Amino acid sequence: MKDITPTTGRGFLDYAPAPESTSILHLKDSYGLFIDGEFREGTGGSFATISPATEKRIAEIANGSEADVDAAVAAARRAYEKTWSKLSGADRGKYLFRIARLVQERARELAVAESLDNGKPIKESRDTDIPLVAAWFFYYAGWADKLDYAGLGANPRAHGVAAQIIPWNFPLLMLAWKIAPALAAGNTVVLKPAETTPLSALLFAEILQQADLPPGVVNIVTGAGETGQALVRHPDVDKVAFTGSTGVGREIAKAIAGTRKKATLELGGKAANIVFDDAPIDQAVEGIVNGIFFNQGHVCCAGSRLLVQENIHDEVVDRLKQRLMTLRLGDPLDKNTDIGAINSAEQLERIRTLSDIGEREGAERWSAPCDIPENGFWFAPTIFTGVTTSSTIAREEIFGPVLSVLTFRTPAEAIAKANNTPYGLSAGIWSDKGSKILAVADKLRAGVIWANTFNRFDPASPFGGYKESGYGREGGRHGLGAYLTTQAVEDRPAQPDASRASRRTKGPKK
Ligand code: NAD
Repeated sequence: MKDITPTTGRGFLDYAPAPESTSILHLKDSYGLFIDGEFREGTGGSFATISPATEKRIAEIANGSEADVDAAVAAARRAYEKTWSKLSGADRGKYLFRIARLVQERARELAVAESLDNGKPIKESRDTDIPLVAAWFFYYAGWADKLDYAGLGANPRAHGVAAQIIPWNFPLLMLAWKIAPALAAGNTVVLKPAETTPLSALLFAEILQQADLPPGVVNIVTGAGETGQALVRHPDVDKVAFTGSTGVGREIAKAIAGTRKKATLELGGKAANIVFDDAPIDQAVEGIVNGIFFNQGHVCCAGSRLLVQENIHDEVVDRLKQRLMTLRLGDPLDKNTDIGAINSAEQLERIRTLSDIGEREGAERWSAPCDIPENGFWFAPTIFTGVTTSSTIAREEIFGPVLSVLTFRTPAEAIAKANNTPYGLSAGIWSDKGSKILAVADKLRAGVIWANTFNRFDPASPFGGYKESGYGREGGRHGLGAYLTTQAVEDRPAQPDASRASRRTKGPKK
């Protein structure tokens, strides 16, 4: 192993602080629940949402009770029956276009709110999260009047009321992934954001008011797991869309088993990022960094297992360490920050516990030398080498800035190791041989596979997992299908031209 001395970073390439101003935010001291087009007091008490970078309170948030969830579902049902299901697809699309444009207009404000509440670097919320939110609404706005031509089946129609539960890692983006296709397909929505990141969903509710969306079409009920449980179990919900951990996904699947409720579950991941010895190493190193350190590794499809061909292991690890020493950890609102805060004390504890287990099980730990701020929740970018497929840190989702490095000798071994996981959400392949990429990709059990890139998202591209990463797809035409029911062939009424069709197959009578 080469001697690793910082060539860049603190001292050599110091950056002056460049904090984004929060003056654009006009936050209230407390937020109620958004039900039937207006904010109202909840009946379940409240909790504070804090900045994970400073631990300072941002605002007081209503904790939705069972009665509040009931009121939100009732509002969504009324809106579905009375307004939303009566609108043409083109009219629904107009609302979605309007929402997309308002997101663009308020992009800076939303980015600041997201970084403040979540802890992610402002350059990520500004350049990735919020532009993708707008892109998602624009994309599904275009589908709203074309459901009949989507090729999803005959007579596509909405399920009705969709209950949507999202995690904290991409708060507004996950909201967009859920709400945009649901509305385009003609459903109404009750959405519960994660308890540590409710802020951007509440600002989004203001955007819905600005857009004049009919009351009740989207309702936002804040709260924690119990609020989510009440929503999932509500008897008047037709569809459950959940993104979060595999453990909670399992609970939800059990809770709705035997009911008429449709479900899509987008769960955890433990993606393999496979680097072959013919890969462009510099690009691969950037891809590895993006794959696991983007958003502090709080990414379901993060490339958390690096599978590197044995003969280039030392070179890749050395270059990776050099690169990690240039990353700047600190204030999420600083435009120079690469690594922001860990979202919560609980998540930090989980990352620490799993990292300690990694060390105890014999893997070698290396963390980038960083100045860790005094307050808030932080974890330095960390690499574990000498990891085996049976190591806990190669099997469990850490959901933090921690990379487990494994090696392989042949493509077959890479494929076997990559697939040796209960998850199957994503994977990455780095090689300059297109044929090798295609051959390997074909054998990987993962919903999304990137080649010579990582963590690329597009609203037209479906996203979802195999095995314990869940079922159903979000994004693209497939994501639209998850919010529609279509008529099965045997249910269809006889078509006026059915007899002609059958005659044609038998041959015309002369
Ligand atoms: P989590 O499962 O703890 O919570 C997710 C949401 O579910 C939160 O809003 C939470 O309040 C709610 N919830 C908790 N218990 C519930 C219950 N019993 N019934 C109903 N709702 C309940 O997950 P998290 O820690 O917020 O998010 C991290 C997880 O999300 C990771 O495992 C990550 O991989 C996964 N994730 C998956 C995707 C994907 O598209 N597959 C995307 C982002 C995150």
